[in-house]
Amino acid sequence: MQVLGCEDVNALVAQQVIIDLRSLIKELLENALDSGATLVYLRSCGTDYVQVTDNGRGIPPSDFPKLACRGATSKLDSFEGLRNIVAKGFRGEALFSIAQTCCLEITTKTALEETATRLTYKGGKLLSQELSTADTGTTVKVTDLFANLPVRRQDLAKTFKSQLSKTVQLVQAYALLEDTIRITFVSEGEGGQLLVEGMPNEPLRVRAAQFFGLELETALQDVDFPLGEHTKLTGVLLSPSRLHQPISRDMQLFYINRRHVYIPPAFKSALRNITKAFGLRNPIYALHLQIPPEQLDINLTPDKMEVRVLQEKALAGKVYTALQEFYQAGKQMESLPVLKRKLADSPVLGNEKRVKLERQEPQHLTAVITQLALTQGLPTKPHTAQSKSQTCTPPSPALPSTEIDKLDFLQRYFVQLKVIGQFNEGFIVTRLAPHSLFIIDQHAADEKANFESLMKTTEIHTQPLVVPQTLRLPVADQALVTQHLQTFANIGFHIEVRQDNSFHLLTKPLSKWTVFDTSDLYESIAHLKNVQFATDREQVAALIRPKKYRDMFASRACRSSVMIGTTLTTAKMREIVNNLATLDRPWTCPHGRPTIRHLFNLENCLARQYRPPQLANLP
Ligand code: ADP
Ligand code: MG
Repeated sequence: MQVLGCEDVNALVAQQVIIDLRSLIKELLENALDSGATLVYLRSCGTDYVQVTDNGRGIPPSDFPKLACRGATSKLDSFEGLRNIVAKGFRGEALFSIAQTCCLEITTKTALEETATRLTYKGGKLLSQELSTADTGTTVKVTDLFANLPVRRQDLAKTFKSQLSKTVQLVQAYALLEDTIRITFVSEGEGGQLLVEGMPNEPLRVRAAQFFGLELETALQDVDFPLGEHTKLTGVLLSPSRLHQPISRDMQLFYINRRHVYIPPAFKSALRNITKAFGLRNPIYALHLQIPPEQLDINLTPDKMEVRVLQEKALAGKVYTALQEFYQAGKQMESLPVLKRKLADSPVLGNEKRVKLERQEPQHLTAVITQLALTQGLPTKPHTAQSKSQTCTPPSPALPSTEIDKLDFLQRYFVQLKVIGQFNEGFIVTRLAPHSLFIIDQHAADEKANFESLMKTTEIHTQPLVVPQTLRLPVADQALVTQHLQTFANIGFHIEVRQDNSFHLLTKPLSKWTVFDTSDLYESIAHLKNVQFATDREQVAALIRPKKYRDMFASRACRSSVMIGTTLTTAKMREIVNNLATLDRPWTCPHGRPTIRHLFNLENCLARQYRPPQLANLP
């Protein structure tokens, strides 16, 4: 064994800090924010260069000899200081890593100096130091990105678009929180454009809408929840009266003590559960938790995005209660009285299974399974009368534990299921050799088959607008929409981009009595952000369809499917089960109800029946 030389260790460490465009820009942006700047200007030009300019305090000449050395930082004196650190950086690794892996040029001047200085580094070595002209502040230019790391360099070239998109989201997240610093991010070179433009003087709600989607501006509400001494949660949430707003997945931002972080698990689960309970599939929020710094551990990963919070669960419980009160104030609560009472008793996660089961209609599959599992055999209770016109209800907040394990049950097994018979005129009982019993919801299964067929075959017509409608698109969305004009046209929204870079809607989709409007288009744009890198154009078009499309087909499919309460022939049951094998997503109906559940294993059931009595149970 040998001890690696200092240079080798340095090279190994350096390669782990700056791993892609996003981490490079993140470190430079954080340095600019830590410098007390009010203006930060970021530029990115393909794989050629990244440049970040700020009007902060600059770097004093006395720091030049140490600059870009490993562990060189002006933000932390000793490890002890970490407990109260407020600066975004503190590890003294970023400039060192950039100097090791790229070509680094720093031009800087403090208010005390007459002239600026430009320092150039390559391969970790200072190449030159010369006088330059610049205002107070710092410009860091990075060229020759990952020059000595061919794999990373090639990866950047190949995946530049997706890396840039992730970087834009990150810069947006920072710009959203900053109320005194204007952050601007542009891409330069061919097709260059303004990617992010912060609006520090606007209220948080307006800043959030700029990034989440302008149509959400009136739907977002500022919140301020005191959670204890020196502890509070502020930010924006979807207003209780707008819970059914179209949604996109990347609308969750979390900050702790002015740091943009991955939301800690207990908070994530509290937010997800409470929003689900109030009928919203994905939560929409930009929330800022402020806690005493000593209660936060930020030094878990080099990017400092992962954090641990002291008493995380207890605090998340308080967040849950605060949000519950907030949403209870909304109209939505009135329609869920049972759920409200149950959730009020629950801390973070609540007794979800009980809540869910109590919410099920008796005819619901889960209730049937519970009933069957309890009796360890096929039904003993007579079938309860169902209305022939019964339609689907959305599922309760989360699926119970009896949900089929999709990994174990492959889709092709559907054709291997042997139909045993019909239960309660609503469910098809089947057996997968040798001993597994499965139950299939006849309505949900047939409905999903009809739904997928309608989605694929129905032709959507378009309706030209007499007067084209002007679209208000956030800067970051404009580029995305321009790239996908044809995709939007495919789903009925023809958009025209004029010379002055204004966007106008020329047609809207139309199908029988369902009319679409601009809010549906904004929703599609939000979906597009999540799927823009899918290669198959048709797939993208399918994935960005607004919820109204799905609802329309779901309701048509529901009406034309076999209802609960209908007696089925064996042939019809076989057909319904076989159809599931051909679907894209056979596991749930369009409203989210499961189509199939594992009932139990007959072998276990038989073994249990013949088990001799336990000694301890004898009188
Ligand atoms: P850290 O941010 O963890 O201190 P960095 O390697 O990112 O480590 O930066 C090293 C030091 O260089 C900082 O502590 C700071 O003193 C100085 N520095 C870097 N960028 C800037 C900037 N934009 N403005 C002022 N000082 C800077
Ligand atoms: Mg730093």
